[in-house]
Amino acid sequence: MQNLPYIGRFAPSPTGPLHLGSLVAAMASYLDAKVHGGQWLVRVEDVDRDRNVAGADQHILASLQRCGMHWDGDVTWQTQREHLYDAALRELGANIYPCGCSRREIADSQLRLSQAGNPNLVYPGTCRNGLAPGRTARALRLRTPQEPHCIVHFHDRFAGDVSQDITAEVGDFVVRRADGFWAYQLAVVVDDGAQGITDIVRGADLLDSTPRQIFLQQLLGLPQPRYLHVPVVVNEDGEKLSKQTGAQAFDTGAAADALLDSALLPAARFLGLEVQADSIDAFWRAAIPAWDALLRAHGEAPHRP
Ligand code: GLU
Repeated sequence: MQNLPYIGRFAPSPTGPLHLGSLVAAMASYLDAKVHGGQWLVRVEDVDRDRNVAGADQHILASLQRCGMHWDGDVTWQTQREHLYDAALRELGANIYPCGCSRREIADSQLRLSQAGNPNLVYPGTCRNGLAPGRTARALRLRTPQEPHCIVHFHDRFAGDVSQDITAEVGDFVVRRADGFWAYQLAVVVDDGAQGITDIVRGADLLDSTPRQIFLQQLLGLPQPRYLHVPVVVNEDGEKLSKQTGAQAFDTGAAADALLDSALLPAARFLGLEVQADSIDAFWRAAIPAWDALLRAHGEAPHRP
């Protein structure tokens, strides 16, 4: 992975317009790609059709353009790539099994296992040896090794060394949901692999998903990208900023200096970048070396694109 040309990406779910929280993730991935002289792809993660908001994808893309973040190649939409997820499912073969449990049943069994302190709903393995008579298949799950446990260690460029015992902390996880939609974990791994992504830079809310993604990469014979999880913007109640928690969308029609003041500069400040600029172009000219300096302050070698 070290010697491959850098390919990064921003992978928004079109559940609403771009806001400060998603802009921070977009900005960090964009800056990291630029500092490495790499490509920056945009992939719309729209497999969860129930959460998609009509027009949000175009709004996000327009906001990126207005902010001066221009992607390489064509934008991709996950709903146009579902044959790839199907092929991956076939490749996973006997590692996959149908599960008839409802979320409620899993939550109840978790209480019985007294693991309520764990934020993940740990699947107790009810259907791993076959569906009980009379049960119908709902979701498809991936078998996780039991003996020994599946423990994934990886190095995050921001968080440092991370490890997770997937068997104990997550259990067999869903790759195709009960509603028939592809699970994020499978789709993201297949696409990152197919698009040759070498570097994933995204919000720390996904740190916890990374071990599952690495496990899937291993099963599918895909290379493991480098990871950098940046802190997520939270509201006054400590909730991740999203449309549901009151994030303000950017006005894509706003004048450039308004976008600079209301979007780019606050996002850069959140990332710890010391940037002063009076135009969008000047912003990026200052932000790219500032990101490089930040990486060096975190102990990374200087980057020469
Ligand atoms: N689509 C995910 C989101 O919007 C991000 C996926 C990723 O970066 O891996 O939260």
